[in-house]
Amino acid sequence: MVNAARVSFNQESEELSDRDVGLIGFLARNRHGSPFEHGYFRFLVKAPIFVVREHHRHRAGHAYNEWSGRYSKLEPEFYVPDYVRTQVGKPGAYSFEPVDEATRERTRRELEETGRRAFEAYERLLEQGVAKEVARGVLPLSTYTKYFWSCNPRSLMHFCGLRNHESAQFEIRQVAAAAESFLERLMPHTHAAFLANCRVAP
Ligand SMILES: Cc1cc2nc3c(=O)[nH]c(=O)nc-3n(C[C@H](O)[C@H](O)[C@H](O)COP(=O)(O)OP(=O)(O)OC[C@H]3O[C@@H](n4cnc5c(N)ncnc54)[C@H](O)[C@@H]3O)c2cc1C
Repeated sequence: MVNAARVSFNQESEELSDRDVGLIGFLARNRHGSPFEHGYFRFLVKAPIFVVREHHRHRAGHAYNEWSGRYSKLEPEFYVPDYVRTQVGKPGAYSFEPVDEATRERTRRELEETGRRAFEAYERLLEQGVAKEVARGVLPLSTYTKYFWSCNPRSLMHFCGLRNHESAQFEIRQVAAAAESFLERLMPHTHAAFLANCRVAP
């Protein structure tokens, strides 16, 4: 990233110096974003379909390749939340609070039952010779899928700013927090600049 910025002056650094760290902060602060596109992250994500629907809305600087339910049979694995919550307040300004234990257990049982029955129906349709691309229509949004996700540091910061945030749904927030931990570990100065700029991507 530093060298992507320094090429403007036909200069290059071999090792990261304090001056370079200062430059990263300057670039982030002043929203000179394009040098932050010169980096590469690739993740293998396993997540329920409803999380993937949210994730794949992030377009700029992201690439996705997903397991195909047309070409191979989906495995009977679906998400049942530990954290069952109720929404309080108005649309756009909801807050979420845990439900009582009995409601939590009932909800989890309903989701388990529905998921199990859906996968039984899926199996029945496949046994009758129905194409996988048609039979999958009975499966719930909680079905797990997996995909490669590649992005650059700038697009990752934008994603984390929106999705590792209290307004994002709990489940995608877990994905974003995990992804952000890699940014923090592998690009600590860029991550620090992101935090210093109130989690707004340059
Ligand atoms: C809390 C929350 C609630 C949401 N609720 C809904 C909802 O109810 N319904 C819904 O449909 N979506 C919803 N979304 C998705 C949201 O609208 C965005 O699609 C998603 O967050 C991706 O953001 P983005 O477009 O900035 O990211 P990217 O697609 O990665 O784009 C990054 C940036 O590139 C620029 N850009 C990209 N594409 C274009 C373009 N075509 N034209 C101009 N500039 C572009 C913009 O500056 C954009 O911010 C929600 C998102 C969040 C975080």
